[in-house]
Amino acid sequence: MTTLRDPYEESSGVIVGGIERPTRDEDIVRRDKKGRPYIKEIDILGNLTGREVTYTRVTTYIDCVDDKSAISRWGERQLVKGLLGERGPRWRAEASSLLTDDKKFNLNDLIKRIKEAAGAEDRAAIGTAVHAITERYDLGLELAIIDELYAADLVSYIEATKFMKHVYVERLMVNDDLQTAGTPDRITEYLPCEVCGIPYYIFDLKTGRVDAYTQNSQAMQLSVYAHSKIYDAATGQRIQPVQVCLHKGIICALPAGSGRAELQWVDIATGWDLVKVATQVRRARNIKAHRIPFVAVPNLHLIISQVNEANAINEINALRVQYGQFWTPEHTDAADRRIGQIDKP
Ligand SMILES: [Zn+2]
Repeated sequence: MTTLRDPYEESSGVIVGGIERPTRDEDIVRRDKKGRPYIKEIDILGNLTGREVTYTRVTTYIDCVDDKSAISRWGERQLVKGLLGERGPRWRAEASSLLTDDKKFNLNDLIKRIKEAAGAEDRAAIGTAVHAITERYDLGLELAIIDELYAADLVSYIEATKFMKHVYVERLMVNDDLQTAGTPDRITEYLPCEVCGIPYYIFDLKTGRVDAYTQNSQAMQLSVYAHSKIYDAATGQRIQPVQVCLHKGIICALPAGSGRAELQWVDIATGWDLVKVATQVRRARNIKAHRIPFVAVPNLHLIISQVNEANAINEINALRVQYGQFWTPEHTDAADRRIGQIDKP
């Protein structure tokens, strides 16, 4: 029996969207420049090797299956909106200085800031705050004063989830086969699954725009969590949580500021099938098909067919000159035959 370290012991929390939430393991893990978490490596027997490897975030891992054309066009529209807006002249000046500098990273950062200013990320920020509030509620922490904006969201969340018991809240989970890491919002107890009889489900709160993620990406995301173990960032220990149902997960759709929470079952068995597709696509992206440079040499068969297709004797003579040293007695025979045919009245 493993003793669970209580990650909520630490008094210093994290402030998100003006709301303090407890520190999570995902806050503690070291990350590389791209934000990928370093996870303590285990060998095939499950023993820690003493090394750390970067794992892929679950959302990134499953990303490749989605058709992102709609969302990227939306992002482009937000960018244009930002560039034409009040702060447009300043953005454009900054952009042109970065373009000449060849500083890809800084330019990408500027694009992100312009989109944010155009309101692209506003809802995401509100969503983070709603996450923090519901987390404080589920952990039984004091709620302090809640902005009017979120009060209705919290009420609807409490109402929607009143028959559920959250057994894990915001715990970092890893899948060592896929080398993914991510934090589902809850592992929740509810009525047993009709198929497996298990009463525990991955539960995720979705506060973003409904069209920001597809149904399939949600199913994939929850299925990866259902196939993951809880990771203790301090010790590197993998902890098997309660066995969760691998058929269904629960999504609580609560667009931030809407005050309307809606529960949905999500088919994570199909989600897991799609994760296997994601694995293949990710592998495919790392395959390099061979490419070998070569210099073309004359194709002797081609010369004969060109001779046979010639319609005049001077065409055949031109071919003879063109191919020079590559012209063989075989070509001469073909030329003689063709000339005989052309000469016939
Ligand atoms: Zn089940």
